[in-house]
Amino acid sequence: MKFEEMPLVVPNLKKAEKTFSRLTNRIKNAQTKEEAIKVVKDYFKASDELGSEITIISIRNSIDTRDEIYEKANEVCNEILPVISGYTQNFNKALVESKFKSELEEKFGKYLFDRIENSFKTFNESIIPELQQENKLVTEYEKLMASAQIEFKGEKRNLSQLGKFLSDTDRNTRLEAAKLYFGFLSDNDKRFGEIYDELVKIRTRMAQKLGYKNYVELGYLRLDRLDYNAEMVKGYRDQIYECVVPVVKKLRERQAKRLNIKNPLFIDYNLEFLSGNAKPVGNTEYLVDCASKMYHEMSSESGKFFDFMVDNHLMDLDAKAGKRGGGYMTFIPRYKSPFIFANSNGTSQDVDTLTHEVGHAFQGYLCANVKVPDYRMPTLEACEIDSMSMEFFAWPWMDLFFKDQADKYRFSHLDGAISFLPYGVEVDEFQHFVYENPNITHEERCKKWAELEKKYRPWLNYEGFDYLINGKYWIRQSHIFASPFYYIDYTLAQVIALQFKCLMDKNYAKAWKKYIKLLKLGGKYPFLTLLEKAKLRNPFIDGNVKKVIKPQIKVLDSFDDKNF
Ligand code: ZN
Repeated sequence: MKFEEMPLVVPNLKKAEKTFSRLTNRIKNAQTKEEAIKVVKDYFKASDELGSEITIISIRNSIDTRDEIYEKANEVCNEILPVISGYTQNFNKALVESKFKSELEEKFGKYLFDRIENSFKTFNESIIPELQQENKLVTEYEKLMASAQIEFKGEKRNLSQLGKFLSDTDRNTRLEAAKLYFGFLSDNDKRFGEIYDELVKIRTRMAQKLGYKNYVELGYLRLDRLDYNAEMVKGYRDQIYECVVPVVKKLRERQAKRLNIKNPLFIDYNLEFLSGNAKPVGNTEYLVDCASKMYHEMSSESGKFFDFMVDNHLMDLDAKAGKRGGGYMTFIPRYKSPFIFANSNGTSQDVDTLTHEVGHAFQGYLCANVKVPDYRMPTLEACEIDSMSMEFFAWPWMDLFFKDQADKYRFSHLDGAISFLPYGVEVDEFQHFVYENPNITHEERCKKWAELEKKYRPWLNYEGFDYLINGKYWIRQSHIFASPFYYIDYTLAQVIALQFKCLMDKNYAKAWKKYIKLLKLGGKYPFLTLLEKAKLRNPFIDGNVKKVIKPQIKVLDSFDDKNF
């Protein structure tokens, strides 16, 4: 079914209550193993139906945040979702108490039951008010970010439309755009600070109600991190600090030389080459055609999948007024359809969307028939492996998208992948500090950010931008507001994607096979087990980050970037 034909159905709380309490009674009263299995399957169907309704609303709302119907529907979802969590928890409680539990575990896998036990640790009805407030505040943050209407070069622009000028070849344009961009954030700093402060306090209260000291442990459990903890993550951050920060420092020096700038400002690093960053050679329509050719040549499976996305209008790519910022992939179970949302702006990011988000969608597509909803998609860090590795698998086809600038793109893609790691762990360390010290002020939080910036990105110079000198860059990072502790996942996945890159440099076909194997495992196992099954290195083991980075520094050195 085409996306625009999918009906908009606003979930009804009474109906949901009836459905789930009926299922709960049925699992309690099941007399045979077969009957219990049937109830669980019906439960999966009901969750998929409800999930589909909510997903369709959230997609439509993000495409046009000004539409009141979608806005209202989205508000209803935010209100009733936590209440519905209560109903599904009742079902899950009855499920784990079922006399057929071991038979059900055998049928559906133990991991499902581990996830259910985990959900008990992260939710009970006493935290519903906090969950509702949390949703509201995150929506307010997103709306405030999307509300920017900034006059620049004769046009009103939102932040993502203004964003493309931050890497303009003309230094004054970059500076002016940056002043307006961060000026908007600065003008709203008071409210941004309050929203975050309220979020931190609400999350801390939730943690305490559930019996945790602070939000850190609860945050990890809410992300279903069942096989690693904050201590392992700290060790991993140390690996990045020790073996990646010095590499990135050198890359920035190499960049400054290339740009012929003696004392670069932070904004100068957005420009990678004097001749401009690699730009795709066509508009969205053209790029989608290139992507179609690429996915057909990559494999028959990926070709069929991409046709499915195009034929059913499952991509909304162009930036438009009223559209939410950023990009994402989501999945609509009822129609077994992935959906891709992006804000194309004429930069190489548009190509990244067609590799990154499409990588996510490809995984969703390959696992669309998995019956257990929890097993369809892995936990978030593993999801990002699928997308970030696809960015590298697409390298041989970059000539289609960039013509004579393809090498320029490849160089800056790899440079960017490695350079991202220190920033990613900085965001993570910041959040650990914030939730371990929930009562500090906005300004104290910003002071910590400034300190971490010096640790992980000592090359940054914010001269003339007091707002950023005062440690406020993080305000633009929506994950810090919306999904605490999630950000490190991108770095973990990047390290694995770089492993795939090392593998494909040796043998592309073999690397692709391993990739497909990982994709088809979906979310059947937790993160580290997935890596083990696909025979990939565990990034938490000391020394493994270095093993992956070293060969790729050589690849970067093989480019003649001075002449780009
Ligand atoms: Zn992603």
